[in-house]
Amino acid sequence: MAATYKSIAVVTGASSGIGAASAQALAERGYTVVGGARRVDRVQKAVGTSGLALELDVTETGSVDRFVAEVGKRYGHIDVLINNAGGALGLEPLEKAKDEDWIGMWNVNVLGLMFMTRACLPLLRKAKVGHIVNIGSIAGFETYKGGAGYTAVKHAVRAISRTLRLELNGEPIRVTEIAPGLVETEFSVVRFKGDRAAAKAVYAGLKPLTAEDVAECVVFAVTRPAHVDIDEIVVRPVAQATTFQVTRKT
Ligand code: NAP
Repeated sequence: MAATYKSIAVVTGASSGIGAASAQALAERGYTVVGGARRVDRVQKAVGTSGLALELDVTETGSVDRFVAEVGKRYGHIDVLINNAGGALGLEPLEKAKDEDWIGMWNVNVLGLMFMTRACLPLLRKAKVGHIVNIGSIAGFETYKGGAGYTAVKHAVRAISRTLRLELNGEPIRVTEIAPGLVETEFSVVRFKGDRAAAKAVYAGLKPLTAEDVAECVVFAVTRPAHVDIDEIVVRPVAQATTFQVTRKT
C-alpha cells in the first residue's frame, strides 16, 4: 500500500509573531509543519505535536543547508515554503542610520529569503504543487521617513517575488507575496532594540493587526485550488491608510 502523502509546510521565523501564528494555523489545517528560527526552543509550541522544530539562521548558508537537508531526509518534498524571517532595525534618517542595522536587515530580509528559496527549490519541485509565500510589507511599495533601510529591503523582497513568478512560470509552483501594514508582534521591540515603551507607542490609539490576522491570509493563499495563484495580498488595520497616515484615538 502506498504511504499517505503528507503536505509539508516550512516556516522560517516560527519562534514569534506572524511565523509562529502561520505555523500554528497550518498545523491546524493538517500540514506537517517544519519551523525554523534561532530561538528553536520557542518553535515546538507553534508547529504542534506532528511538527518539527529545527534551529535555523537564514543568514548563514551552512545553517540553511543543514535545515533543508534534514527536511529532505525526513519528508522528501516541500509543499509550502513561508519565507517569514525578517524585521526592521532602527528608525533613524538615512544620514544617521547605522551600518550594522542596514547590513543586518539586508542579511535577514533579502539574502536569508534568497538562500532559503534557492535551497528549497529542489524539494518544492518534488511536491505535487509547490508554493512559495514571501512575507513582504507595505514598506515594499511605500516609503516613510526613517525607513530607508527597511523599505529598501522590502522593495527587494517584492522584486524577488516578481522575478520568481517569471522564472517558475510553466512549473506547478505558485508564488505569493503577503504585504501587511502594522501588526503587533515583537517586530517593534526588535526595531527599537528592546525599548518596550517605544515599541508600544507604534500601536498606541489604534487596533493593529494581529499575527493571527496575517496567518489567515497565509492559509487563504495556500488553500486555493492548484491552478489559482494569489499573487499579492495587502492587509492593513482599518486605521492605517499608508505607512505614515494613521488615525489614532487619544
Ligand atoms: P517578530 O515577532 O519579531 O518575528 C520575527 C521572526 O523572525 C522571529 O521568529 C525571529 O526568530 C525570526 N528571525 C529573525 N532573524 C532570523 C534569522 N537570522 N534566522 C531565522 N529566523 C530569524 O516579527 P513579525 O512581525 O512576526 O515579523 C515577521 C515578518 O513580517 C518579517 O519579515 C517582517 O518584516 C514582516 N512584517 C511585519 C510587520 C509588522 O508590523 N509586525 C509588518 C509587515 C511585515 P529568532 O529571533 O528566534 O531567530
